[in-house]
Amino acid sequence: MEEAISKLKKFVSNSDQIVAFTGAGFSADSGISTFRGAGGLWSKYDPNIYANINIFMQDSTYYWNFFKDERYPVIKKAKPNAGHLALVELEKRGKISRLITQNIDGLHQEAGQSDVIELHGNTRKINCLTCGKTYSMDETYKLLKKELPPKCSCDGNLKPSTILFGEPLPQVALDMAMLASKNCDMFIVLGSSLVVYPAASMPRIAKRNGANLVIVNIDPTPLDKDADLVINDNASKVLSKII
Ligand SMILES: [Zn+2]
Repeated sequence: MEEAISKLKKFVSNSDQIVAFTGAGFSADSGISTFRGAGGLWSKYDPNIYANINIFMQDSTYYWNFFKDERYPVIKKAKPNAGHLALVELEKRGKISRLITQNIDGLHQEAGQSDVIELHGNTRKINCLTCGKTYSMDETYKLLKKELPPKCSCDGNLKPSTILFGEPLPQVALDMAMLASKNCDMFIVLGSSLVVYPAASMPRIAKRNGANLVIVNIDPTPLDKDADLVINDNASKVLSKII
């Protein structure tokens, strides 16, 4: 472990265009359960019912009940962890050029990260599908305590800016993430199992264009064999050791 940490420190000190890529494992230390696998959120809530765009457009009450009972209380309570703060520090030191996240909890921004590309949207922002008005989580929670599904003041339907199953990823975010991956000198994966495409293709793009690839994840990933350094440990713990 010590050897891996010193190797990681060396990579970081030799880089000034780092792309950090965070997944669900990164927010787990903030008390937000991961989605996949045993004990994951999707074993309790079938995403093809509770977080599917087609079901949502027909009957959004599944999603809003899931939001009310599960997402809202968990995300409202969650605080940035040591890993989030370490990434803010690396950004301040001019090390990180871009942060790409698969997470929808907004914790990077809450920690103070200024440059975040969100591939899967953000649970904290809710939009009216008719007039485009934006609501916070708290405002939406108040509305849905009154009526289900919650309505905008214009009577339009609300939708989280989260990307639901069956929805395409936001093209602008995707383009920015691809470009950043291509131009970085180090790409570090933090708490992602790298199984969801197209997000998982970004480390490959970085590697192909000459960047060092570092993977920090509790479990092995399909890209470990291509990486310059793999640390199978908790990402926030590892990051706080290199600051
Ligand atoms: Zn509206």
